[in-house]
Order: sequence, then C-alpha cells, then structure tokens
Amino acid sequence: MDYILYIFIFAIGITFGSFYTLAVYRIPKTQDILHTHSYCPKCGHKLGFFDLIPLFSYIFLGAKCRYCGDKIRPRYFIIELLSGLFFMLLSFLMNFTVSTLTLSKIIEYGFMILYFSFVVIMAGIDKEYRQIQDSVSYYGIIIAILYMVYLYILDSTNIYRYGIYVILYAITLIMSNITFRKYAKNKYIYGIIFTILTMAVFTGKYVTALTGISVSLSIAIYLLIKKIQNRKKLPKQNYFQKVQLGFLLGISNIAFLIYLLAHNQYML
Ligand SMILES: [Zn+2]
Repeated sequence: MDYILYIFIFAIGITFGSFYTLAVYRIPKTQDILHTHSYCPKCGHKLGFFDLIPLFSYIFLGAKCRYCGDKIRPRYFIIELLSGLFFMLLSFLMNFTVSTLTLSKIIEYGFMILYFSFVVIMAGIDKEYRQIQDSVSYYGIIIAILYMVYLYILDSTNIYRYGIYVILYAITLIMSNITFRKYAKNKYIYGIIFTILTMAVFTGKYVTALTGISVSLSIAIYLLIKKIQNRKKLPKQNYFQKVQLGFLLGISNIAFLIYLLAHNQYML
C-alpha cells in the first residue's frame, strides 16, 4: 500500500513544482501568483487544463506551446521533476508509511515543504535575475518564526536558540532598512543574510555551516580561475557580482540536508 502513498506524494510534489516555476516567473514582475490564470509568456494565450498538468503537459506537447509553437524551456520540467522527487524522498527518509503516519510527522513534513518552497523560489529567482526578492525573504522569516513557535511548543528548553534567531532577524531587518537607501547593491547581501538565517532555523547549524563552507570554497576556486584566466585582459571585471550566491546556497543546502537525513545524522 505504501507505494500508492509515495505516488500520491510525488503527484503533490510536481504540482508544487509547477507553482514554483510560476512564482519564479511572476514575483520579480510583481504579478499575482495566486489568482491570475496561467498564460504562455510568448503569445499570451491562456492555458487550458491539459496544458497545465505538471510534467505530462511538457512531454505530450513536445516542449512547445500548443497555441504559438514557441519552445517551453526545459527548466519548467526540471523544477517540477526535482520537486516531485524531493517530496517523495523526504517522506521516505522520514519513514512515511500508511500505518505509522502521525499528525506530528505530517506537521514536521509540512514545515520542511514550506521551507523547500522558500529555497526553490529564492534560488530560482536568483539564478534568473541575481536578485533576492524582499517578499521571498519575508515569507522565509514568517515560516521560520512559525516553525520556532511549533518547536517551542514541543520542547520549551530551546528558548534561547529561538531568541537568538529572532534578534538576528530583527537586526538584519533594521540594518537593511537603514542602509538600503544609500547603497542599493547591499540589498542583495541582506537578502543572502536572511536566507542563511532561515536555513539555520530549518536545517540547523551543522547543515548551514557545511552549506556555507562548501559554497565559499567553490566561489573562491571560481574567482581564482577567473583571475588567472583574465590576468592580461583589461578592463578589470568584478566577477563576484555575477555569482548567484542564493542559488548556490540553496542547492548545496538541500543536498546536505538529504545526505544527513539519509545517514541518520540530521539534527538541528
Ligand atoms: Zn504560446
């Protein structure tokens, strides 16, 4: 019976994946992500029910818009597929079975899905535009606070840990509002700080530390290679301004999270 449960969870996952692609496309354009009907970005034609089935529409339409024939980018398909796989893998790693499903397990799983949604939308927008959107950061802060309230209800001994996160969020929020008007490029850095804080709340300090170290190392190597390649060329370029930090953090964070969950070494 359990495989039916996993197929059901996979179906929910690809549906969320479909929503993520829509959010990544619309949030930077400040379009409504909940109400407005989906349409083809090229010809503007409203999409029908059969154009909107995650994964399958892409396959059966041959990666093309039914109305104008414009190519649909494989990114949509990849995000949907990876979301479906993550939803399924997470439920598997949390030992979901039909007979042992408890409410607390479902709530824990739900919080991790809210977090995964944050990571995918944040990373997707960063990959596309090298931006961290305020609305996405704020969504991260809200779910992090809800999660800490939930954890506090379960075990009130960790109150100091949550207090520290709330203070760090508040400081970052105040700093970003003070300095934002003067230095617009700082906005990105504050978006990254919010992202790291939200990561730490959900995946714990070990996973977050591993994430930070691996991303810093790979960026250092990337910048070194670019520097060697460009030794003689003028003008000087600032390659760091092209690095999609949020995207890299998101990918390695989810990878470490899965790895540690799979090895039963996960802890907050
Ligand atoms: Zn079209």
